[in-house]
Amino acid sequence: MTNEQIMKIFEDTAYIRTGGSEAELKCAKYLQSLCTAYDPDAALEAFEVDMADIHTATLEYNGESVPCKGYFNAGSREVEAPFYYLTNGDKLSLSYCKGKIVMFDGYLGYWRYQDLIENGAVGFISYDGNANYADCDIDQRELRSYVSKGNKIPGVNINAKSAIDMVNRGADKVKITLRQDEYKGTSHNVVMNLKGEVDETIVFTAHYDSTSLSQGAYDNMSGCIGLLGLAEYFSTHPHKYSMRFIFCGSEERGLLGAKAYTEAHEEELSKFVLNINLDMIGCIMGRFIACCTTENELVTYLNYMSFERGFQVDPYQDVYSSDSTPFADKGVPAVSFARIAPNNTATIHNRYDSMTVMKAEHMAADMDFIIAFTDRMANAVRCPVKREIPDNVKEKIDKYLARKR
Ligand SMILES: [Zn+2]
Repeated sequence: MTNEQIMKIFEDTAYIRTGGSEAELKCAKYLQSLCTAYDPDAALEAFEVDMADIHTATLEYNGESVPCKGYFNAGSREVEAPFYYLTNGDKLSLSYCKGKIVMFDGYLGYWRYQDLIENGAVGFISYDGNANYADCDIDQRELRSYVSKGNKIPGVNINAKSAIDMVNRGADKVKITLRQDEYKGTSHNVVMNLKGEVDETIVFTAHYDSTSLSQGAYDNMSGCIGLLGLAEYFSTHPHKYSMRFIFCGSEERGLLGAKAYTEAHEEELSKFVLNINLDMIGCIMGRFIACCTTENELVTYLNYMSFERGFQVDPYQDVYSSDSTPFADKGVPAVSFARIAPNNTATIHNRYDSMTVMKAEHMAADMDFIIAFTDRMANAVRCPVKREIPDNVKEKIDKYLARKR
């Protein structure tokens, strides 16, 4: 893949494409059209996702209204209650949530929501963005169905500047009004195959959806381009193992594409010897990592390969927050490659994730290493990675998927 071809794909996909949206489908069809160069049968696979249209979302306190976005799928209700800023997660702090509208730092994770519900919160406020940035952007968030389990309280997301203001000015009583239509929609995975000498398969994943403010060049059109580069290479180079490429939809909404794929293709999973996942490669700044959701031997192997090729890699054993996890959860060993930029050089899930943080030469260099690694696995007499997830990694997966706290 030439540098021009790499940058052309970034240009062609420089738009927001959230899971289940028309724009996401447009991007799926675009990727499918590129895939047909290597597999004429490249196809879209649909799966169901929760959707919502917000009609009203307001947040008021001390007689003023705060710019906000309502949480998708957090029901339709109006609540007025005392304000409480939950700074710590301990039992004492949580006990003050009762009957309050609670603001908290960071994401609305599974356990955070269970804590709010169990401690009697009646509404919630999250915030994002950065108080030091010029923009006042607010990301569109959702209350995921596996988090709410049908038990919904209304919530809004606000900008960090507004959050500071509310605490600084001592917000007392606050009111949230949320009205929305909730319904089922469709998201898609794009799937292509390169047949090898044997049925056993290496499965590649990269998500192509973005979050609500982001063009998702770094996170993760970069990984999609990586997959296309692999397909291009192995369409003209031998590979003993068969190859399946999955461009996953709705990853940003909770790995929904990879989860849907592993559920719909349960009977094929035993054929998958390894998952290679690309999520955020080729940016200008940052270090290259390989997160191995496998036995620790692969970490050593990648370390040796790094020296051998003179290409710097930091491999480690862990769970990567990406489409590799549903595969590893089903017993398919997975490795995720990424170039992690320092936060002050490139960030994700905001308007600053655009092709300006990307570099074609770094894309090519990262892809070079990934292709070299893949070539060894794909032409091995037997793929050396043990098809078994060690217990310490299983425990990390359980925690990541909120089965364990
Ligand atoms: Zn990503």
